[in-house]
Amino acid sequence: AKASGRRQHRFFDTALQASITERAALIGDLRMAVAQQQLALHYQPQFDDSGRLLGFEALLRWRHPERGPISPALFIPLAEESGLILELGQWVLQRGCQQLAAWHAQPALAHLTLAVNVSAQQFRSPGFEQQVLDALSWSGADPGHLKLELTESMLVHDVESLIDKMARLKRHGVQFSLDDFGTGYSSLAYLKRLPLDQLKIDQGFVRDLLTDTNDASIVTAIITLGQSLGLPVIAEGVETEAQRDALRQRGCRAYQGYLFSPPLDAPQLVAFLQRYGG
Ligand code: C2E
Ligand code: CA
Ligand code: CA
Ligand code: CA
Repeated sequence: AKASGRRQHRFFDTALQASITERAALIGDLRMAVAQQQLALHYQPQFDDSGRLLGFEALLRWRHPERGPISPALFIPLAEESGLILELGQWVLQRGCQQLAAWHAQPALAHLTLAVNVSAQQFRSPGFEQQVLDALSWSGADPGHLKLELTESMLVHDVESLIDKMARLKRHGVQFSLDDFGTGYSSLAYLKRLPLDQLKIDQGFVRDLLTDTNDASIVTAIITLGQSLGLPVIAEGVETEAQRDALRQRGCRAYQGYLFSPPLDAPQLVAFLQRYGG
């Protein structure tokens, strides 16, 4: 399944690279998507070991008027290249914070956190910090329940200013999770200096955890590293009980994945939360 997934991915990459006009067209369409309300956030629940709901990860969806749903794995890179990521990211922050504030108005949901993905370009841009603070104050959401997911690939250059920016946001209470952990080449020395609240095990390692001893070793190493740095670890892409059990056995205590729930659209979210007394 992994090999075919990779082939498929490469196919899309080359298809896009081959067609500059198509890329340009998509970027143009994306530019209008915000204004024309073609974007939506879906929310995937995260659970602790005892089945308690911890919060959600916001995942961006784009329904193109002619092409239908387009994967964020495809349009986020386009948004980054074209500079649209700032506008898109702002929309995600505003929408996400609005949702967070709505949960906090309900006692049964007041503990929930919201994880928001932040791309490298977006985080690096000078306006980012203000964008986050504005979204928080505009919505009235509690900064302490907003968790920004940064990716390991951001750690390749200018780590000092990245740390500074994280630290400033952290002073407002904002949390940070390191997404896709283990897939990049971040230095462990940096890891110790980053003001992180969580490590997220990449779904690629979870997928082959039971069949690939290398992946199993990496998962064990990440969890051990998290424990020694005092960082909770969450696993994403958990699809089977066997995977969950193997993760638990290695000391993982938080999970996200199809085993528990797919990302939920607005009506599904309402139905889901009704079970939690919201
Ligand atoms: P990610 O942050 O690693 O998100 C996890 C992806 O795994 C999501 O794909 C999610 O739908 C999918 N997933 C969840 N559970 C399972 C599972 O059990 N098995 C499998 N195989 N997959 C699962 P999605 O929604 O297509 O998003 C793809 C990527 O696009 C995200 O990867 C993230 O890097 C990016 N992305 C999504 N929304 C945003 C956003 O608002 N801003 C930015 N900058 N990037 C975003
Ligand atoms: Ca993520
Ligand atoms: Ca990930
Ligand atoms: Ca593997």
